[in-house]
Amino acid sequence: MIAVVGSLNMDLIIRVPRFPEPGEAIHGEDLQTACGGKGANQAYAIARMGQPAHMIGCVGDDAFGDAMLENLRAAGVDIRGVLRRAGKASGTAMILVHDATGQNEIVVASSANRTLTAADVRDAADILRQADAVVAQLETTLSATKAAMALAREAGRISVLNPAPFTPLDDELLGLCDYLIPNETEASQLTGLSVRDPESAAAAAGLLKSRGARNVLITLGADGVWVESEAWHGHLPAFPVRAVDTVAAGDTFIGAFVARLVEGISLREAAQFGCAAAAIAVTRPGAQPSIPSREEVMAFLHARNGAT
Ligand code: ADP
Repeated sequence: MIAVVGSLNMDLIIRVPRFPEPGEAIHGEDLQTACGGKGANQAYAIARMGQPAHMIGCVGDDAFGDAMLENLRAAGVDIRGVLRRAGKASGTAMILVHDATGQNEIVVASSANRTLTAADVRDAADILRQADAVVAQLETTLSATKAAMALAREAGRISVLNPAPFTPLDDELLGLCDYLIPNETEASQLTGLSVRDPESAAAAAGLLKSRGARNVLITLGADGVWVESEAWHGHLPAFPVRAVDTVAAGDTFIGAFVARLVEGISLREAAQFGCAAAAIAVTRPGAQPSIPSREEVMAFLHARNGAT
């Protein structure tokens, strides 16, 4: 079982012919809603890869909260660790997508996610202690994330931190990470280096390891991932696909990677599995709706390189 401590957001998406000016109202296409939030996306991906997943987080007592919990439950995620905050709105992301260019403008209202405390995480200590791995991000509160990583380390569980969105991190927290998995933007912000290719990712990963993270994986979008570990380091290219929407690419990578890692396969194979899952996700719109099943990823890998 893998425990995910993190955010749940409802994504409200409108495609627009152009972005409005301040004070201007324009017409967009029909509203699309999709369940998202980095924590929920990762828990969803883990469950889709056939690993039991337990979500720990906070939603409001509103309709979006109901819908997000139902969506996770239907995918097989255990939602008993998700708290409902009376009188609070659930986390929401308002997303405008430019029709012609695919660029987006996003406003995230963290709402209930920001009420998750370190004490809430410690209340879920029994779940974390039983987990094979504990996964967290930075979309709730830093104290909740620290508490999750500290509990995982104390209990001898695999701790995984996706440092997104970027927040400055101290070496104490980096030292609690068995796996630190930033994308290239976050890796640049964490290190002050300009990470844009495997060579610069290798330098940033080395720096993050020297600050205490045991293993560092830097995702590079269409350029794949740099893996820096004691056992192996090197570059794994992405699988070439026609990307239509890269939302949740990183979350799919992380969920699929951790789901396979706890099964005891090699780091390199688990990372390759993560790349395959994320490659499928970028060919589909939305966050959780784009995440493939384990069978789909296995079939994709088999078709691409004969691996199983
Ligand atoms: P994030 O969503 O956090 O920004 P990335 O964009 O780095 O994360 O993507 C995570 C992973 O998803 C990459 O390591 C890669 O394996 C896969 N991926 C992302 N974009 C593409 C793409 N255009 N084609 C194929 N794979 C992709």
